[in-house]
Amino acid sequence: MQSDWVRVRDEREAPVLEVFASIQGEGKYVGQPQVFLRLAGCPLRCQWCDTPGSWKLRTGAQARIDAREGTRREPAWASPLDALTWVGAVEPGEPRPISITGGEPLLWPEFVLGLASMVGDRPIHLETAGAHPEALQAVLAAVQHVSLDLKLPADMDPPQWDEGRPGQAQVPRDGIEWQAARRACLHLIATKDACAKIVVAGGREVEAYEPLLEDLAKLAPRIPLYLQPATPMAGVQAPSSELLVEVLEQARDLELEVRVVPQVHRFLGIP
Ligand code: SF4
Repeated sequence: MQSDWVRVRDEREAPVLEVFASIQGEGKYVGQPQVFLRLAGCPLRCQWCDTPGSWKLRTGAQARIDAREGTRREPAWASPLDALTWVGAVEPGEPRPISITGGEPLLWPEFVLGLASMVGDRPIHLETAGAHPEALQAVLAAVQHVSLDLKLPADMDPPQWDEGRPGQAQVPRDGIEWQAARRACLHLIATKDACAKIVVAGGREVEAYEPLLEDLAKLAPRIPLYLQPATPMAGVQAPSSELLVEVLEQARDLELEVRVVPQVHRFLGIP
């Protein structure tokens, strides 16, 4: 099916995949009621990605709005005001923090900034793969919390861009480029309310995680680290308990604040 990227006319707009209220299942704010605003588009190909449906935007794409009165669909391209209206429609009670997730939200920094300018005191949490340090820098002051993935380059298949998408930002393609992006992002969030997340999949060696942990310890030692066992799906294995403990101890040896937290929303059977 043909890509829809060419329809980008206003850089403050972004393609919304879904808006729903749920409980944060990962990272520092695990267990907190939040509203999730999932944007479409991601050129990365993490082998353990649990949202491959967010990678591409199709012609005629629609956003799914899990509103209080029932699920409805709207054209995916949304202004920050559209998105904020949808956030209000899905909240069951008092306003919750908004988690902007993806896909990769940092493909749409102007949208993030536009939304942040409208929400007043309501916290915005950003979940990012850490492949776009310049965009992270642009939105950093506008968001209250950043959850930064530290990617194992060996976990990444080659990136893929949608044909016809204008202004395609570069993304890391090898270990050297991932190291540069990782270090730039860690430098940016070092004094921020933030956390780092490493997904640990089966079949990896503990040594592979050393560069990620050493960069975190050196550049952002106060940022808590969450080790997230990969959820088994589509050929991806969960890590052995031995591997998880080895990575945990490696992090502790570096005096990192580290916890192991599986995807809680999966256990609860909620989105
Ligand atoms: S960065 Fe996120 S959305 Fe993109 S492939 Fe990786 S896990 Fe999936």
